[in-house]
Amino acid sequence: MAAVTLTNVVKRFGLFEVVHGANIDIADGEFVVFVGPSGCGKSTLLRMVAGLEDISGGKIAIGGKVVNDVEPADRGIAMVFQSYALYPHMTVEQNLSFGLRMNGNPKADTERRVKRAAEILRIDELMQRRPKQLSGGQRQRVAIGRAIVREPQVFLFDEPLSNLDAELRVQMRVEIARLHKELGVTMIYVTHDQTEAMTLADRIVVLKAGNVEQIGAPLDLYDDPANRFVAGFIGSPK
Ligand code: ADP
Ligand code: MG
Repeated sequence: MAAVTLTNVVKRFGLFEVVHGANIDIADGEFVVFVGPSGCGKSTLLRMVAGLEDISGGKIAIGGKVVNDVEPADRGIAMVFQSYALYPHMTVEQNLSFGLRMNGNPKADTERRVKRAAEILRIDELMQRRPKQLSGGQRQRVAIGRAIVREPQVFLFDEPLSNLDAELRVQMRVEIARLHKELGVTMIYVTHDQTEAMTLADRIVVLKAGNVEQIGAPLDLYDDPANRFVAGFIGSPK
């Protein structure tokens, strides 16, 4: 069970408040997309869920447990970033197994997890290559693979496709949707791309300048936007 609940979550950088009391309830297994223009606080919210950024106020719970003071490694989450951040000198297989080996995970279990991730992402053939011998899409698969091997309860994606060209973006979008179906885990996905939000989300959280403007299923936002901003960003004109 890994619902994610944000209650009155506030974030300040010094005196500058960038998230103004966000309330977001994400169900176990749900695919939720945070969408909004650049600078509205999407990454900051996600980084607070991940534990990479302190919370200035409010509470975040994962699987019913408040995690405000829990280390990132103990939150049951894994994050995929826009930059692939693969180790250039390691093979794909080593890139996938490195984190587990560092944590002292048993060898047989590490091998099982790496094999499973490779199968899910269809990168079995690439295991002995190094990152520079991979295409952009293949690299992004490996980056996602590094999240899968951790077997997290919650996947966090921060604009994972924005470095890819348009065609690959569509292809990877389909892959991520399939991954969600196959793994059945909770996913929180940040993007400024309306199409990605509309096609991937069970529900969309629309953000504007650190405020939650509306939360709803894609078609509900489209048909019944709460205000002009949501309409302009997602919906039909109101
Ligand atoms: P988004 O991901 O939606 O583009 P961010 O969450 O990155 O937005 O940023 C939200 C706001 O917080 C922006 O005004 C940004 O400049 C500010 N911000 C983000 N990180 C920091 C930081 N480490 N120090 C100060 N301000 C920051
Ligand atoms: Mg961002």
